[in-house]
Amino acid sequence: MRDSYDCIVVGGGPGGAWAAKYAAESGASVLLLEKDREIGVPVRCAEAAGENGLKLVVEPDPRWITTTIENAVLVSPHGREVVLESGKERGYMLDRKIFDYDLVQIATTYGVEVLTKAYVYDLIKPNGRVEGVRVQHLGSRYDIRAQVVIGADGVESRVGRWGGLRTNIKMKDMESCIQMTLANLEVDSKTVYFYFGREVAPGGYLWVFPKNDRVANVGLGISGEYARYKSAKRYLQEFIDKQFPHAAVLYTVVGGVPCAATLKKIVADGLMLVGDAAHQVNPISGGGIVTAMIAGQMAGKVAADAIKENDVSEKRLQEYANEWHRVEGKNHERFYKIKKAIYKLTDEDLNRTADTVLSLPSEKRTIINIFKAALVKNPSLIFDVIKVFMKN
Ligand SMILES: Cc1cc2nc3c(=O)[nH]c(=O)nc-3n(C[C@H](O)[C@H](O)[C@H](O)COP(=O)(O)OP(=O)(O)OC[C@H]3O[C@@H](n4cnc5c(N)ncnc54)[C@H](O)[C@@H]3O)c2cc1C
Repeated sequence: MRDSYDCIVVGGGPGGAWAAKYAAESGASVLLLEKDREIGVPVRCAEAAGENGLKLVVEPDPRWITTTIENAVLVSPHGREVVLESGKERGYMLDRKIFDYDLVQIATTYGVEVLTKAYVYDLIKPNGRVEGVRVQHLGSRYDIRAQVVIGADGVESRVGRWGGLRTNIKMKDMESCIQMTLANLEVDSKTVYFYFGREVAPGGYLWVFPKNDRVANVGLGISGEYARYKSAKRYLQEFIDKQFPHAAVLYTVVGGVPCAATLKKIVADGLMLVGDAAHQVNPISGGGIVTAMIAGQMAGKVAADAIKENDVSEKRLQEYANEWHRVEGKNHERFYKIKKAIYKLTDEDLNRTADTVLSLPSEKRTIINIFKAALVKNPSLIFDVIKVFMKN
């Protein structure tokens, strides 16, 4: 480890790995710092990603994929099942231990240096400009300088705040998630289930994502507003007791997902944020793997170019923020508007939506038509629905 690099990336998740890879590929010397002992562990994710989205950022390796998803079923509060017509779009269940590890390993082939068990506890910030990080590694503390620091430190990000960016989020937009990997099940390994309703997951949804026909990730996210009254864990336990009473729990994870629009500012002098740290998760689905990688790719390239030009000012790095906004961020704002309307739906509204969609021929049970039926009382949002889902 040297005492200075062109670029330091904090966090070895998908966003950090891809930021590091693209910065190095574009000519920067890069150090990636990860606080955990190993890249990819612990997994805090339901591990689902759309095939088309993933292919935008990386060619999927069969070793990452535990099963390929061909069907999605939405279950209304009154128990009616809507099988979603997905066209040709398939999904993958990833093994994130292998996936995250491989992404960082790919980054190293472009010259990225990696240090695990390296906890960044502050930024070097003389005169208000970010000029490096302070890191604790194996009991010792080091200052490491860099022209650009990329904060890819996830939902609990502190890099942004240390750098003077406003990273707060409304409690109702922070989804409180818990998931158990259950074994001893009988599930269809090609079908994912989403359950909705106040009794199951208020202000969010519950998922059953198979890893094979005996094991599934079963979890839920509920709005922080509701988690105050009854914990996500109690909602999940009640569901499991009812649906999978004989399941064995292999693994439990808890975590937050920032289901809001992207932060207003994601760059400062010498600093960029990517992934969950920048709130770049899809506000409706809560999916953030692919979006973190898209952002990482953009940020890494801009960082390397800015370093070559010897201008790492906020103004120069804003190119990344603008590109993010153009490619994904604007859509996330639309998703967020739609989410706010969906959030207000009662169980009766959700039941009515399911009944309306089930009255359509099966080939018309598309995601757009489901949202159109759900938002019948908010016709002004239909344009946003068409825009976001036509893009995807
Ligand atoms: C229960 C749950 C289920 C989810 N399911 C899905 C899903 O099915 N599909 C999907 O697309 N998304 C899902 N998500 C969201 C997804 O996991 C994240 O959006 C994605 O991991 C974001 O990637 P990232 O690189 O921004 O952050 P992360 O993957 O969180 O990586 C951040 C890294 O930074 C490290 N770090 C943090 N602070 C420091 C520090 N100070 N110093 C050094 N290192 C640090 C952390 O240890 C971590 O490794 C889920 C989230 C949760 C909580």
